[in-house]
Amino acid sequence: MNKYKDCYKLKGFVDIHIHGAVGQDVVTSGPNGLQKMAESLARHGVVGFLPTIPASSVEETIFSLESMKKVMEEKSFNGAKIIGAHLEGPFMKEAYKGALDYTKFASASVEYWEKLVGEYENIVRRVTVDPLQDGVLDFIPYLVSKSISVTIGHTAADAETVNKAIELGADSITHIFNAMPPMHHRNPGPVGAALSNRKCKCELILDFLHVSPIAAKVVIEAKGPENVAIVTDSCEAAGMPDGDYELGGRLVHVRNGEARLPEGNLASSTVFMDQELRNVIELGYSIENAETMLAKTPASLVSYEHDEDYVIVDKDLNVVEVIISGKTVYRV
Ligand SMILES: [Zn+2]
Repeated sequence: MNKYKDCYKLKGFVDIHIHGAVGQDVVTSGPNGLQKMAESLARHGVVGFLPTIPASSVEETIFSLESMKKVMEEKSFNGAKIIGAHLEGPFMKEAYKGALDYTKFASASVEYWEKLVGEYENIVRRVTVDPLQDGVLDFIPYLVSKSISVTIGHTAADAETVNKAIELGADSITHIFNAMPPMHHRNPGPVGAALSNRKCKCELILDFLHVSPIAAKVVIEAKGPENVAIVTDSCEAAGMPDGDYELGGRLVHVRNGEARLPEGNLASSTVFMDQELRNVIELGYSIENAETMLAKTPASLVSYEHDEDYVIVDKDLNVVEVIISGKTVYRV
């Protein structure tokens, strides 16, 4: 009998925004921590990911990029691939800092950028910027010229300014609705720009906590699955019991799986992508739509070719096998 009867074979999931998992933090845990994280992600259907550095100092950023590079060169472990880094900052203003450490924020310039990424520029695949920070609008074409995906987030910018950033080459908005003002019909802001501009894709955290199920459907209906990239934005508490954790060096309390700063604001998440797959289906979308939002759209944003990367899920949408570069790395 076919073991995989009634299973779905999908393109493997690609998480372009994730800060940690299973007790490992992208900024502080070093190469071994990143490997552990990569192995745990594979068990949840992820074939590739962008370890995401929340606004950090030059020293912290360099340490994290150096750690990623080491893991990217390591061929002999059974984990999700590190596609490259996502820098969530530091070119931002304080108004919508969210869980980011605003003391690390900086104005954008080629000079500071070269210091920040040092010899590791070629592994940076995505940068979240706030178009209101000094120098950012001029800096977007520079990043785009290096084939780096630029996404708008943590911003109080009006819709016109976001549209201008998109005209300059930004391709998306970072975790839509979070770390930005809500949409008002006379002041549509970043959400209105993202939903109305056909050149703008949207990162969406589908843990049903950061964005309500109905608001998530607004995004999917307005944009179509081909313009929605589901991300986790998870921190090291993903896959761990409730307790106190860190997000790039900041304290995060986790209660009932909700990660919050001591003052109460949501600070990243604890979700894995296989749960987000089940959430997509719960919203009433098809498995093909889920594959688009969890695998194809995010891969296209960071130009990741994943021809031989698959996840096989059973009819209850639990991961039963993960194949990366044609090789099985996980099987139940
Ligand atoms: Zn984040």
